[in-house]
Amino acid sequence: MPEIDREKAISFHDMALAAGKITVALHQHPDGDAAGCALAMVSYLRSLGKEAAALFPDRLDNTVSFVTALAPKESFAFFPDSPAAAEKRVAESDLLLVMDCNSCGRTGNLAPFLESAKAPKVLVDHHLGPVEEEFVLTFSTPEVSSASEMTYWLLLMMPEIQGDPGKLPGKSAELLMTGMTTDTNNFANSTFPSTLEMASGLLSAGVDRDALLERLYHSCRESRLRAMGCMLEKMEVFPEGAALMIMTMEERERFGIQDGDTEGFVNIPLEMGSVRLSVWLKEDEGYFRVSVRSKKGTSAARMAALYFCGGGHEQASGGRLWIGEQDDPARKWVKSAKDALEYAEKAIREFLG
Ligand code: 5GP
Ligand code: MN
Repeated sequence: MPEIDREKAISFHDMALAAGKITVALHQHPDGDAAGCALAMVSYLRSLGKEAAALFPDRLDNTVSFVTALAPKESFAFFPDSPAAAEKRVAESDLLLVMDCNSCGRTGNLAPFLESAKAPKVLVDHHLGPVEEEFVLTFSTPEVSSASEMTYWLLLMMPEIQGDPGKLPGKSAELLMTGMTTDTNNFANSTFPSTLEMASGLLSAGVDRDALLERLYHSCRESRLRAMGCMLEKMEVFPEGAALMIMTMEERERFGIQDGDTEGFVNIPLEMGSVRLSVWLKEDEGYFRVSVRSKKGTSAARMAALYFCGGGHEQASGGRLWIGEQDDPARKWVKSAKDALEYAEKAIREFLG
């Protein structure tokens, strides 16, 4: 298991016991890991009798929204349903947890509320560069697969759980298995000895992994595979060892793409032996979301930081290109999809050249 200081774990337990209302915030566009670890943590906090809830900065996409069925309705809320209620909840909380991101700033819509909140904040994460000064306690190392894994090991240290995954409350075992499975891409990356120990513990606790895999990997819409074919057909492969794909708004509409339908597309080009860096651009309202993936020895995190105002993990990172006229020098601006493509091509050649 990752090294978690026993005193820090006990401080966390003491803070949770002393608090009445506790709110868990996550990164924007929450994925399976963010949702899984947050709902599992909330399940534990509620088992202590706390008024705890996860606050999602945006809606969950349809690939992971099933996790909300694993948690009581009163244990989570979505910012878009009521920004005012979200703001009130954060302001009234006695304790705030930030999970699956390295700073309050990464929580999107929730960031301004967190930044002005008076309650102490605790970080539970696995990204590089935790912004420690924002938190009274941080549980974070990139040496675990996921925030769900960090949460698993932290919960096992709690006096009520006593190291026994069978004592994890509610559906938290399923939730943590979901988060770890999606973040490792079903054990394809970021899998540490502790990750397999966690999987073993959760299976022993009775998690139905077959049902989970069916839900995660055999439940997609036809549009996903149609769009995948088109994207792979158009993919650019660079002799420097990179691949680049782009999906425009026109293509999103043509294929009827919903959030989540293109999840994992960025990983596919790495199946080629010659490719060590994959860049994926997806047009959104006013910007392109950028995903970068790499093989060991090539830094996706550096690429995302240098060219796409982003960051993330060494092998899996993301960022943005804004569409429009340059008006903020801290952002990278492009005029059109063609412009974005040309910028990314140049960035790839420069980065690997
Ligand atoms: P994805 O490509 O799946 O959207 O993101 C991969 C990783 O990069 C995630 O761990 C995510 O936290 C990180 N990431 C994505 N977008 C951004 C961004 O704009 N800024 C930073 N710092 N990290 C990002
Ligand atoms: Mn994660």
